[in-house]
Amino acid sequence: MTFSIKPGVVTGKDYLSLVQACKQGRYALPAVNVTGTNTANAVLEAAALNKSDVIIQLSNGGAEFFAGKGFPDNAQAKVLGAVSAAHHVHMMAQHYGVCVVLHTDHANKKLIPWVEGMLDHGEAYYKQHGRPLFSSHMVDLSEESLDDNISESARLLKRMAALDMSIEIELGCTGGEEDGVGSDDIDNARLYTQPEDVLKAYEVLSKIGHFSVAASFGNVHGVYAPGNVKLRPDILKNSQALVQSAKGLGANPLDLVFHGGSGSDKDKIHESLDYGVFKMNIDTDTQFAFAHGVGTFVKENEMAFFHQIDPESGKPYKKQYDPRTWLRLGEKALIERLSEAFIDLKSNGKSVADKI
Ligand SMILES: [Zn+2]
Repeated sequence: MTFSIKPGVVTGKDYLSLVQACKQGRYALPAVNVTGTNTANAVLEAAALNKSDVIIQLSNGGAEFFAGKGFPDNAQAKVLGAVSAAHHVHMMAQHYGVCVVLHTDHANKKLIPWVEGMLDHGEAYYKQHGRPLFSSHMVDLSEESLDDNISESARLLKRMAALDMSIEIELGCTGGEEDGVGSDDIDNARLYTQPEDVLKAYEVLSKIGHFSVAASFGNVHGVYAPGNVKLRPDILKNSQALVQSAKGLGANPLDLVFHGGSGSDKDKIHESLDYGVFKMNIDTDTQFAFAHGVGTFVKENEMAFFHQIDPESGKPYKKQYDPRTWLRLGEKALIERLSEAFIDLKSNGKSVADKI
């Protein structure tokens, strides 16, 4: 089956088709956390350059930053920043000629009001445009009991499904630290998702709408010294097999998400693609790339960051300190790192966007 979707932000049925295209083609899309128009545009540029579709997402902290760190009400900034970012991506994505999934990252129990705030805006947007503002939101209640996790996810999915949106949930617990969700003290068993838990979630959520699962198979947020992480993609295979046999479905019935993709072994990434992973989150490595691009320039042009005019030669430094010069180098470095991710995930050259 071949897929063809109008370029731009994809939602609803088109989103489901894109997920299917990934799974059938055994490739995944990088989901990149953005914090402003600089990083959002760099992700779009990288996707267009590599002829890949892509997922743009915001963490609650990234959304807050998008609205402005000085905005007086942090909770409101998280909602408004995410909405503002979504509007920017809706405006630009189609012109880059690729398909873009718009998503938000981890929301634990105390961040559910953030998700509900975005849904308030999403409902208003849907009334006006007949399509959702975001393709999906993640709700991460993996710190709660399984029953609470599933029932609260079900409640929110009802609201999202009415807007042709999808939900991403987390079962098990991704290690590491991301936006204040620390996991230093979690026991090892919780680092690996239990197939029975996935089946339980499937039974409840599949009746309501579309959902994807961030499964834990030893993945960790952030990059740590080698040897700290033991990835076990067979965990994903076992969950797929259980749901497939219990529900009499075809192969790889679950749409799985790989969190903590930064710094992972390439062969483990490739193995996960065989088990229904269509999305891999990448943040740490793209953050570092951006910083490295800027840092290299600052180091080589140090005087320009402390003097408008060279104190000895009188040479003006305007070209060097112009933010467009060094921010662009951050963008270019991010694009270079993402180009590697498209290859790792085998999505390069596989955009399903209609050619205009
Ligand atoms: Zn994550």
